[in-house]
Amino acid sequence: MNLDRLRLDAVLALLERAGQPLPDRASTTEEDFVQILLDGLCELSTTDPMTGLLNRRAFLWVLEQELDRVARGGEHALLLAVDIDHFKCVNDTYGHLVGDQVIRAVAEALKGCVRPMDTVARIGGEEFCIACPSCSPSFAPVVAERVRTAVAARQFAIEAGLELSVTVSCGGAFATPWIRGAVNDWLERADQQLYRAKREGRNCVRLEEMLSTDVSAEEKGLLLGLGQTAPLMIENRKNA
Ligand code: GH3
Ligand code: MG
Ligand code: MG
Repeated sequence: MNLDRLRLDAVLALLERAGQPLPDRASTTEEDFVQILLDGLCELSTTDPMTGLLNRRAFLWVLEQELDRVARGGEHALLLAVDIDHFKCVNDTYGHLVGDQVIRAVAEALKGCVRPMDTVARIGGEEFCIACPSCSPSFAPVVAERVRTAVAARQFAIEAGLELSVTVSCGGAFATPWIRGAVNDWLERADQQLYRAKREGRNCVRLEEMLSTDVSAEEKGLLLGLGQTAPLMIENRKNA
């Protein structure tokens, strides 16, 4: 490999500006040098720079993998959509820099109240999502309420003499075992519940009505690939 033929200057400048540690070319093998740059680029393209959480692109990939796992007969998974209430007031009252600090503080609060196996992402301005694998519908209200109170109960120290509290609204939707849903549909259902939480007063949690999984043994066989190569798509069926 001849590194001099690669256009690495732009990559090195990008990583440096992002505060990533740069390898020392003289004391690193060429392979290791390139690998460190690739790792750095991967991290940049999957991380939200403001909070250090996964960004939307990386989170969609996490959801794809989770839907695959659940479709193979795993347990239910919960997707929570979380949005800061009346955030525009924070910006209007204290300015955007304080707004940014509040977003970072909420991100920390969310990270601190979930299990290590859960994934927290910032998917938009003051909007977050949390993927919770192996979360039964009966346990989901506890999880969502823990998220809501983790934010509502905290005073965020923003700067000397300034402490702020904010609330979040949460909407939740499930991925159901044996059913291979689509990521966009899962996000859309969680969003619908989030809008319901906003409509119904904010600082509250709304979860979608549970869906039944009346999947026959034959359909399960197909989902496991015993009868066909492509995954079977079965529409969610509401309880009769
Ligand atoms: P609601 O309770 O309905 O969610 O009201 P809201 O005020 O939180 O929602 P709205 O969508 O009206 O306003 C969101 C605001 O978030 C508007 C936008 O300027 C601000 N915002 C988006 N991204 C950022 C960011 O990165 N930093 C800061 N400081 N503000 C942001
Ligand atoms: Mg908001
Ligand atoms: Mg919003």
